[in-house]
This record gives sequence, C-alpha cells and structure tokens, in this order.
Amino acid sequence: MNNADFVARDLAVLWHPCTQMQDHEWLPLVPIRRGSGVWLEDYDGQRYLDAVSSWWVNLFGHANPRISSALARQAGELEHVIFGGFSHAPALRLAERLVDLTPPSLVRCFLADNGSSAVEVAIKMSFHYWRNVGVRGKRRVVNLTGAYHGETLGALGVGDVGLYRDPYVELLQAPLTAPSPDAYERSPGESWADVARRRLDDMQALLERHADEVCAVIVEPLVQCAGGMRMYHADYLKGLRALCDRYQVHLIADEIAVGFGRTGTLFACEQAGIAPDFLCLSKGLTGGYLPLAAVLTTDTVYQAFYADYASQRAFLHSHSYSGNPLGCAAALATLDIFAEEPVLQRNQALAAAMARETAHLQDHPHVAEVRQTGMILAIELVQDKASRRAYPWQERRGLRVYQHALQNGVLLRPLGNVVYFMPPYVISEDEIRLMAQVACAGIAQAVA
Ligand code: PMP
Repeated sequence: MNNADFVARDLAVLWHPCTQMQDHEWLPLVPIRRGSGVWLEDYDGQRYLDAVSSWWVNLFGHANPRISSALARQAGELEHVIFGGFSHAPALRLAERLVDLTPPSLVRCFLADNGSSAVEVAIKMSFHYWRNVGVRGKRRVVNLTGAYHGETLGALGVGDVGLYRDPYVELLQAPLTAPSPDAYERSPGESWADVARRRLDDMQALLERHADEVCAVIVEPLVQCAGGMRMYHADYLKGLRALCDRYQVHLIADEIAVGFGRTGTLFACEQAGIAPDFLCLSKGLTGGYLPLAAVLTTDTVYQAFYADYASQRAFLHSHSYSGNPLGCAAALATLDIFAEEPVLQRNQALAAAMARETAHLQDHPHVAEVRQTGMILAIELVQDKASRRAYPWQERRGLRVYQHALQNGVLLRPLGNVVYFMPPYVISEDEIRLMAQVACAGIAQAVA
C-alpha cells in the first residue's frame, strides 16, 4: 500500500481528532507505517522528524526497545484485570515510585486513563472533599485565561481556549477566570517576575471575593501549552500556593503536558518549591506508549473519603481501564530510563542547542519573541513586531509552516501563530539543527 491508497480508505471511514476533515481535500493526511527514535516513516518511504513528540507524549523515541520489550513481557503475563477489588504488581510499583518522585505531601495515587479524565478526577475529588468535611457551597473552579485542560465536558469546562470551548459553552460549567501570568503580556520594562506579582494580586482579589464558593484553582505549571506555549515565572506558583492556603482552596497542578522533564525539572512545580493538593500526570507518563493517567493527592484529602460505607463518602469514580497493567508497565520502563540515565542533564545541552539554533529569529521582523522553558521552545509570529499585532487567525500562517515542514521531513504543528518545538529527548544536536532550519525556512515562507 502507498500513501494515496491508504488515505483514500482512511478518509472514507475515519474521523480524525482536532481536524476540519474538509481540509484533507487539499492538505495531505500522512499515514505512518513505522517509527524509530525521533523519526516517523510514511507508506511512500518519506521520513518525518517528530518535533512535537506526537502531541507531547513521546519522551524516549518511537519504538523504544526498552519500553517495547517491557510491554511485550507484561502482555505475556497479564494484559488487564478489573482494578476495583483487585490489584497487580505494575500498578503497585508505579504508585510507589510516583509517590517517591513527587513532593512528600503527595502520598496517594489514583489511576485513570487519559489526561482529561485525570483533570476531572482532581476536580471531583476537590469538590467532594469539601462536601465530605462539611463545608458547603465550594463548587466552583478558578482557572487562568488561556488555560487548557482537555476536551471532555468537565475538563473543557475549566479551559479557556475559545477555539475549543465556545461551541459547547452551553454545556459547560462556568469557572471563575483569573488573568494568566503569561509573560508575553508583560508591559515594556516589566520582567517575568513582575508580571507574576501583578497577576497574583489579581488572583488574590478574586479569591478574596469568591473563596467561599471555590473548591480549587487549576493551573498548568510554568507553561500554558495548548493556549500557545505561553510561559510564566515560577514565583507565580509560589505565590499561588500561599494564596490557596490562605483562602482554603485546593491547588490542582495539571502537569499532564509539562511533567516528566519538559520544563527542565522532572516536574514543573519543583522550580517553585511547591506541592499542589492534586498533581495530574499523563502523556509522558508512559513514554508516549499508552493512555494512562495518575492523580497524586494528600493524606488529608484521602482521609476525608475514608469512612464507614454507609456514610457515603467514598470516591466511586471509575474507568474500565483504571490501572491498566500494560500502561503501568510502559510507565515503569519510562521511569527506569529516568532513574538510570542522566536524562535531565542531557536535556540541558539539547535545550541550549534549541536556543542557539533559533537565536537569530529574535531579530526577524515577524517574530515577536522566541521563548523557552527547558525542552519547550516557542516562536511567536506577528504581523507587526512593534505593536505585537497578531496575524488574523483566518490566514492560518502556522499551517503554512506545517505544510512547508512536512514537505521537508519535519513534523511541526504550530498552535495558531506559534511555532514550537517539544521533541523527544532522544533527539540529537544535528537533528535539532535540521528542525530549526526547516522551521526558519517555513516561517520565511509563511510570512512572505
Ligand atoms: N491538560 C493539559 C495541560 C494538556 O496539555 C492536555 C492534552 N493536550 C490535557 C490536559 C488532556 O489530556 P488528554 O488529551 O490525554 O485528554
């Protein structure tokens, strides 16, 4: 089968995610036959460097031998078992390791099967906690402008990206939204830390008025990814932790995208020295192999649910695939790589290479800024550099970068006008050079 044959059959029956399917009348759908390391290969033999880690999930390359063989071993022993009333070694070992790796106050691990579900578990647990301890009325969630936490109705309800949210707004909960500490929005002369301080004042004002009706604040620590790779100073998290304590609301850290080394530390919250009340993990948790999610929480939260059955305090949430052993085995193999190889240290050199290869873009007349947090680097395209006026979204400038990159063997998938790199950690410096060269040429075409 070649690409054309595959695509004809695909477009007859499949409905792809996050896609206006009509685009595929002129935009090629890319069928992938195999992957290896950072490379994907299609049915015509064309190769693509996966600069976005296949929606930010892949950490150690496609078809990673170590993770694949761990998975094969587990499949030969136990593929799945009901996780209510039953348990198994991969889930136990994974929970023990996650509890060890995360801040000391996070001592309980609840397993779910995708990022959106993890967010909903955290929201339900927070709401239910306050109910169980007899505090009534705390039912709303505070989010940040530009936030993204997933697509299922509960997770979408606490998001703030209009593109995804607006069509469904009548189905969604209404969060209270505080302005993001997004450093791109800084005023002339302001530092990232200044923006964080100013935005903490906004958050404080909101909590001062609404804390009685708020169960939790949810944030994406350090980088708001789907909202355009907007980044902010760690001081914001430090201040937010203090505000959550002061106003008696939970802090939910959604590290689904930024966890597992993306920001330079294993978890982004480490850079602020804080512990959230709920830590949501998914994506890189399995190295990009299988859908699995974990929500870590405190003993205080756990104890509020631990009671006589008749008291009706239990957390009865479930997913058929809760704690799936294959997912857990992939996650354990991924954690083994972190434990045995100097991943974060190696990433420092890779991050520096990404910075070096894109530094010249700072002076580009249609680049407002090149920003970076660890292994995430973003290039913000604008129509007018002085005023930072954005290109109208209808022009789909980022899509032109995507098309150019595909033709040149790189998978970039810009978010609107933001071109970014979030590659697997097995990328080489040569491959980073290639990725940056193709991105730069794509940008030149897109803004011409
Ligand atoms: N939270 C964040 C921060 C995310 O980036 C994503 C996925 N892009 C999600 C939640 C949702 O995860 P999933 O797609 O697995 O439902």
